[in-house]
Amino acid sequence: MPQLFKHYINGRWETGVTLGVSENPSDLDDVVGEFARADASQTEDAVRAAADARSAWADSTPQRRFEVLDAIGNELIARKDELGRLLAREEGKTLPEATAEAMRAGMIFKFFAGEALRLRGDRLPSVRPGVDVEITREPVGVVALITPWNFPLAIPAWKIAPALAWGNTVVFKPAELVPACACALAEIIARSGLPAGVFNLVMGSGRMVGQTMVDSPLVDAISFTGSVPVGEGILAAAGARRVKVQLEMGGKNPLVVLADADLQQAVECAVQGAYFSTGQRCTASSRLIVEAPVYAAFVERLRERVRQLKVGHALKRGTEIGPVVDARQLESVRNYIEIGRAEGAELLCGGELLERETRGHYLAPALFLAQPQHRIAREEIFGPVACVLRADDADHALALANDTPFGLCAGVCTTSLKQATHFKRQLQAGMVMVNLPTAGVDPHVPFGGRKGSSFGPREQGSYAAEFYTTVKTAYTMS
Ligand code: NDP
Repeated sequence: MPQLFKHYINGRWETGVTLGVSENPSDLDDVVGEFARADASQTEDAVRAAADARSAWADSTPQRRFEVLDAIGNELIARKDELGRLLAREEGKTLPEATAEAMRAGMIFKFFAGEALRLRGDRLPSVRPGVDVEITREPVGVVALITPWNFPLAIPAWKIAPALAWGNTVVFKPAELVPACACALAEIIARSGLPAGVFNLVMGSGRMVGQTMVDSPLVDAISFTGSVPVGEGILAAAGARRVKVQLEMGGKNPLVVLADADLQQAVECAVQGAYFSTGQRCTASSRLIVEAPVYAAFVERLRERVRQLKVGHALKRGTEIGPVVDARQLESVRNYIEIGRAEGAELLCGGELLERETRGHYLAPALFLAQPQHRIAREEIFGPVACVLRADDADHALALANDTPFGLCAGVCTTSLKQATHFKRQLQAGMVMVNLPTAGVDPHVPFGGRKGSSFGPREQGSYAAEFYTTVKTAYTMS
């Protein structure tokens, strides 16, 4: 009998209306488990449970919230190896990447445990005599959290932890591809001593469960990470109801390599940023913009490095690149490879399906030489595909880097302090990396983008309070 992953609603584990199946993308004969799928009515039960619990949790002490979040963080860290294995098995990133993600999820809970104790307010004199003004932050209420499959522990952690730390109640809907990770996290949260209804997990399709959450009049705020079209639909629905909304969506992140860069370092930044985690990161460096004097040398070194990348089973020692997450995503990535060829981009290496000991979604990492107008250089592919663009000089490189509707992350490789400072100021992105891959961020500082990549306040770090709290100004006449 396969393991059954259940919803967690109002403090109880519940089966669903229908069942879905979670597969291992490294081995399609390995079923990770079956999972409950909810309908609208079961989703509404979860939202109602969160609404009923909101006053009690909003009134809980910072010490209590600290203890709950710290306990969750401790357990995630203590079990990082086991959780990492589960994550690698279900999502397909390599075991070291998956274990690091479990660790990071734990660190996020521990950071927000501390934030529960650190929430600040202000007390000011009024402009009127005898009057005091206090500015405090209060919980927003019921928050709906909708997450993608590519970071199935870390992204839920960076939404759930601040929501709970600042006194909100939660309804969490993970992507259907990763129910085992969602349930493992929910089990740890369920053991932490939260009152029933404060945290709820509901699984099922975005169109059913996600949309029901978005449309519920009991939901006060929605935090979403995922694709642009779904994010735009959520923004329209949230705007119509005037609820708070935070969206983290796609990216087409540039990594600029200037003529004075340390080429070895630049190649490593490109390989890690573009291909690790199978390129399935919103921060992936999918546009490598290289200044003319080092273009040929960079391309040659990068091609050699990409050819040597070891693609294989996510749990196998030595694998550098795991499989693509599922058949649909694989088809979408291969379609982009065909589009690139058809539009005249030059495929330098990769792009073909690979066979391994087990049946899985294995794809050789692809490297293109492209032109800025090519679709593969403009649209997010979300797979192990990168393209190199040639820049005449540093100004041209900057213009190419900013020539995108997205603005999540951008990087520059240079040994010049002057150029590093110039690019840090001029790159139109929420996050900028100098001599580092565009992917790979710290858990204690803000995360998010500009332009078409993001909407609303930043996630992570103390800046997350902008979304998960609401400000109250109180006047007192003494
Ligand atoms: P999707 O937008 O398809 O899905 C994200 C989540 O939204 C899933 O849980 C999905 O459910 C749900 N959903 C789908 N339709 C609706 C709806 N109508 N109403 C409410 N919820 C809905 O993205 P993917 O999961 O495919 O993730 C890949 C995308 O996410 C990429 O484009 C990537 O750039 C982006 N991403 C962005 C990040 C960032 O921080 N900027 C980080 C990670 C990914 P279901 O289970 O049915 O799919």
